[in-house]
Amino acid sequence: MITVTHATGRYVLHAAALAGAPQRLREAGLAPGLALVVTDATVAGLYLDALAAALRADGWQPVPVVVAPGEGSKSLETFAAVCDAVLAAGPDRGTPVLALGGGVVGDLGGFVAATVLRGLPLVHLPTTVLAQVDSSIGGKTGVNTGRGKNLVGAFYPPRFVLSDPAALATLPEREVRTGLAEVVKHALLVGGGLFGTLERDWERLGEADVLAAVVREAAAVKARVVSEDEREAGARAFLNLGHTFGHALEAAAGYGTLTHGEAVAVGLRAALHLSASLASGATVGDTLPAPFDRMDALAARLDPPPVPAIVPDEAVFAAMGLDKKRDRSGLRFVVLDGLGAPRLATSVPEALVRAAWAYARRAAG
Ligand code: NAD
Ligand code: ZN
Repeated sequence: MITVTHATGRYVLHAAALAGAPQRLREAGLAPGLALVVTDATVAGLYLDALAAALRADGWQPVPVVVAPGEGSKSLETFAAVCDAVLAAGPDRGTPVLALGGGVVGDLGGFVAATVLRGLPLVHLPTTVLAQVDSSIGGKTGVNTGRGKNLVGAFYPPRFVLSDPAALATLPEREVRTGLAEVVKHALLVGGGLFGTLERDWERLGEADVLAAVVREAAAVKARVVSEDEREAGARAFLNLGHTFGHALEAAAGYGTLTHGEAVAVGLRAALHLSASLASGATVGDTLPAPFDRMDALAARLDPPPVPAIVPDEAVFAAMGLDKKRDRSGLRFVVLDGLGAPRLATSVPEALVRAAWAYARRAAG
């Protein structure tokens, strides 16, 4: 059993069928009554009826709140609309909010739960690889504003997380890959069994049980990291491996052009090149020295689409803050000294960063 421990709460990650949600609610001390199910239209079409039926059979009155699929729903406008729908249902402080879907629904529904009546019990029912290994774990909730992503939100841990491995069967291939980028990131951060499993079983990730095992292991990695460091004072920052480049690429390409995971896949290769250069004391070429070659070979299997030609390198560097020093210690990056050995590198020379980006861009085709 995987448990996440925060100063603000302690919760369990279950990997089991969604139909078991009522039993988990009872175990969490929640008595049947109104239950608000925040979901998106795609996920609602696939899983809402079965979940609602299971809830009703156990004495709950589920009220669905369905938003449009996609990042656009992580907005202040949708937040306001969901709050209104939730309040219209007449909740009390014990009414749970069940966030059924991917990271968008988890972040949005989580923020609604954190704020309506100053806090309703939150349950994550993640249905994407990304949500099962990453966004449902760690207590971050929130929405985007016109000024950027995730700028309004709260730390608000769920009562429990129930990840149904069977739900991943309907996930489009591109969304599976997006989540696998975070899985690879977790494997690079800890090495060990997860890294070996991915190397060995990559071609078998289409098999439900192989994928489920990898997702479970990757979720455990995140649970461990955020349990040690809820508010990102230390180890949690390592989860940003590949994300300085990745976020910059995502923004420079225009949100929605590449998925988050595709951008992170490119970012991971840049971070590995940078790690190799820092370890060697000089810019490395296109052949990474050991052990970075082996790590890069795994990241390469994510096979992201090419960086669109219309995205200039300078736009990526600008989005990364390369054009203006980030803080007194200059450019900061999460890098690896080796497999499973992350550290925060400060005052990173700009030339190494540029070379790393150029490598990752070439490598993506
Ligand atoms: P998403 O929620 O948009 O889901 C991706 C797509 O898959 C959507 O179109 C959705 O309708 C569909 N979908 C979901 N489950 C499905 C299923 N089982 N079968 C078929 N289709 C399904 O995207 P995501 O990648 O899950 O999450 C991305 C979001 O997560 C971003 O907003 C990101 O900022 C956030 N995030 C948050 C954290 C955190 O710590 N809170 C961490 C990482 C990412
Ligand atoms: Zn990420």
